[in-house]
Amino acid sequence: MAAAPDDQRPAPNLEAEAEVVSYSTEGPVAFVTLARSGFANAQNGRMTYAIDDAYHRAVEDDSVKVIVLRGAGKHFSAGHDIGSPGRDVDLDYPRVATLHYGHADKAGAERHYARENEQYLGMCRRWREIPKPIIASVRGACVSGGLMLAWTCDLIVASDTAFFADAVIRMGVPGAEWFAHPFVMPPRIAKEFLMTGDRMPASRAYEVGMINRVVPDTDLESATLALASRIAEMPRFGLALTKRAVNFAEDQQGLRDTIDGTYHMHHLAHAHNELTTENHLAGQNARSMAEKLK
Ligand code: ZN
Repeated sequence: MAAAPDDQRPAPNLEAEAEVVSYSTEGPVAFVTLARSGFANAQNGRMTYAIDDAYHRAVEDDSVKVIVLRGAGKHFSAGHDIGSPGRDVDLDYPRVATLHYGHADKAGAERHYARENEQYLGMCRRWREIPKPIIASVRGACVSGGLMLAWTCDLIVASDTAFFADAVIRMGVPGAEWFAHPFVMPPRIAKEFLMTGDRMPASRAYEVGMINRVVPDTDLESATLALASRIAEMPRFGLALTKRAVNFAEDQQGLRDTIDGTYHMHHLAHAHNELTTENHLAGQNARSMAEKLK
């Protein structure tokens, strides 16, 4: 769930919707590009599985050493789709990340729990364990669900236009489903980030260690490719082991257990919203969330 950064979305372009993620390579670097720019790359279920397909392709291709995740257009991602015509929360997709049963024919808390367990929690865990380095290349909005896409990458290069926010406190929800917040920034900063829902500009994200580079917007592509190319010179297995070693250290610090545990607080909030408001999002939609995003 997330807020889109502005209200001025163009009418749905069915041709553009024909492809929600694009894939290309340049030497040893694979580019996975979110391609719903008409909706600030809001992530629907279809996009989630298309990202997974693209990652799978990059992992299987021995000529690919490093993967770059980026967004077409002005924004990396406005987060989970809560309002575009392509919103597909009522559709079951064949499960890829988990062996959980489908959600579409379930009711109440079980419905949301099942869908998010597969499409958010499971997918993020799966992507974090991809054995090749992934660099997020971020400009514009990286909001709520968009954070999960960026934070499951190993490195983040940001344009000076980039901003990060998790505004789901406005729904009474304690952060997006992949609760890495107190690991990617100091806990006190995470509390401010979560409790205000305000935008953190790229410069501040760099100060607190959440991202690796901030570059002028016009340099984002070249800076990302330079970093990817440098890493691509290293041995594949060495990169895979290095990634696993740092992930292991994060898990020893509690990242995985924290995310598994707080997932249930997230769903307590969804269930509370269903009991006390009109829906599990506390009646919020993309427009209302965008209006409140500072
Ligand atoms: Zn949720």
